[in-house]
Amino acid sequence: MNVGNGQGTPVTVGKGHAAGARNGRPESVTVGNGHPTRPNARTAVGVATMLGSAASNQVGAAIGAHGVVFHAGSAVDAAHAPNAFRQVHDVLLPLLDATMAAGGPRLLVEPSAGGGRSLAARVEALSDYLDAVERHPWLGVCLDTCHAWAAGHDLASPGGMHVMLDALVDACGTDRLALIHANDSKDARGSVRDRHENVGAGQIGLPPFADLFTHPATAGVPVIVETPSAGSVGHAADIRSLTRLRDERQHKTGLRHKRQPKRK
Ligand SMILES: [Zn+2]
Repeated sequence: MNVGNGQGTPVTVGKGHAAGARNGRPESVTVGNGHPTRPNARTAVGVATMLGSAASNQVGAAIGAHGVVFHAGSAVDAAHAPNAFRQVHDVLLPLLDATMAAGGPRLLVEPSAGGGRSLAARVEALSDYLDAVERHPWLGVCLDTCHAWAAGHDLASPGGMHVMLDALVDACGTDRLALIHANDSKDARGSVRDRHENVGAGQIGLPPFADLFTHPATAGVPVIVETPSAGSVGHAADIRSLTRLRDERQHKTGLRHKRQPKRK
């Protein structure tokens, strides 16, 4: 479900599904949980397998995707993080080169809610992730507000959404944020639990979602909801709320969508 700006609809691809969600669970592919005996192998193999197929010309071009989202992956423990990042480098970098050269969908890493030894949960950690692929221009970021909250960002305090977005820009630069998953959370801040709630009905609450639209980093960035929904009812209500907030705030602040760069 998309609350974008009419300039194309990036599609979240996961396990054969297009954008959307069932039971409020994200459908993005989670890559790897590490393995006690073969540390991090699944991270690298998972990235290669999933992106190798999902970002291929056939699939990406067929569905007209602008981006393919994948979860950051994890290491079995802190000691294995350097090895995991090496694997991210070895597997992801050639894939980014190939996909960019082919004009395929941009690859978008989504920070997790912070369970396990995630390679990226708080947005500051995206700096290491980008470094692991030598700041490759084809790696973008998908921000999930529920995950950011679960990973400890205090989005509910006044100005909290902007503080987190400032930190994201510090870590990534101004041109990385390519997609937003606007989800509220059923759980407390820092819970590392990934249970989405309808926009404004959870622990984050509605006001931070208004602030989402007034930060320069989000201008022109499409928004998807992955919230609980009976049929399309919940999604439609959330999209209405977000659209209203976007229009109100942008009217007040005079912010305009900036055009997204054209794909090759
Ligand atoms: Zn998500």
